[in-house]
Amino acid sequence: MEMNEILVTYGENIEEQAYSLAETAELSALIGGRERRIGLKPNLVLASPAEEGATTHPEIARGLIRYLRKNGFTNIVILEGSWVGARTGDAFPLCGYTALVSDLGSAETRVELLDLQADRAHPYDCKGMKIEICDSAMAVDFMINLPVMKGHCQTLVTCALKNNKGVLPDREKQRFHSLGLHKPIAHLNTVAKNDFILVDGICGDLDFEEGGNPVYSGKLYAARDPVLCDAWTAAQMGYRVEEIPYIGMAAALGVGCADPAKAVIRELTPPLVPRKAPTDQRSEPSGKVRQLASYINEEKSCSACYANLIFALSRMEKAELKKLPEKVCIGQGFKGKAGTLGVGRCTGSFDASLPGCPPAGTDIAAFLRGLM
Ligand code: SF4
Repeated sequence: MEMNEILVTYGENIEEQAYSLAETAELSALIGGRERRIGLKPNLVLASPAEEGATTHPEIARGLIRYLRKNGFTNIVILEGSWVGARTGDAFPLCGYTALVSDLGSAETRVELLDLQADRAHPYDCKGMKIEICDSAMAVDFMINLPVMKGHCQTLVTCALKNNKGVLPDREKQRFHSLGLHKPIAHLNTVAKNDFILVDGICGDLDFEEGGNPVYSGKLYAARDPVLCDAWTAAQMGYRVEEIPYIGMAAALGVGCADPAKAVIRELTPPLVPRKAPTDQRSEPSGKVRQLASYINEEKSCSACYANLIFALSRMEKAELKKLPEKVCIGQGFKGKAGTLGVGRCTGSFDASLPGCPPAGTDIAAFLRGLM
């Protein structure tokens, strides 16, 4: 797999999606020697099940570990430090990682589960900013970052670059907030490891790091460049890269490429995963997703397409939404039919239609604004 590639799968079998991404990326060749210590860094920001949109599905780790073992790698550790105020010791069992490790465990090939809140840390010079990083995270030879694609109340988007905040001791996490997050996140990633990234885009939250408004898209994707990964993620969620300062800052520090147009996207499966209606989602207390759905006329749409439309609508002001001439049509049920306003290739016969299969959130928002 090349540095500028992003491999995407859509599906409903998360473990198999993770396995096939590792296989297609030829992950074993990227890792190298079988004795190397491999770290898996999920996002377990707090004790909340993955279905709520905040944390990484444990099936992803399961699929990866199955692949790694099949290819002769046995020195594997899952490591994470939850945010300040939550205990990783609570998140591991509730998010399914304690059970995962116990399922996988023969004594000689046991996968370690390591709470970075209990780890020691040392300072590193991160291109001009001194940052303390946990020893165990720096001790792995190859780090597989497993972020969730989701919204964030301060940085708008959180994915690969920000997920590395979990390798900091709590006092350093607090200092990051006092520094406004963006600059220290960019500097952290000049030293913290990011050798392979597998993003959980199954049902990330609309706009909050702690979940509660999951947007189901059934998507997993792999990348090697964390900056490109986040730039592309931002575009899927309806943001321009300039709106997420840490992405551009990390690029300026040489961490990667911040131009989503430079990403070479390889879809391993078509996006034809049926949409899950909001009522199928386990948690939607504030009803934001349901409220945005009132602007949509949906017929047999794919999850990823519908999710990008929801993300795009959530980026628009209420006043803008009110100016929409009518509900936005989306889905395979509109193929070959006439209509006025639609997004996605399936509405290609409409008077106004945005191509793409699925179109990115940022393109959808620009298209809809262009009609006003
Ligand atoms: S354009 Fe049609 S086929 Fe393509 S993702 Fe959207 S709904 Fe699915």
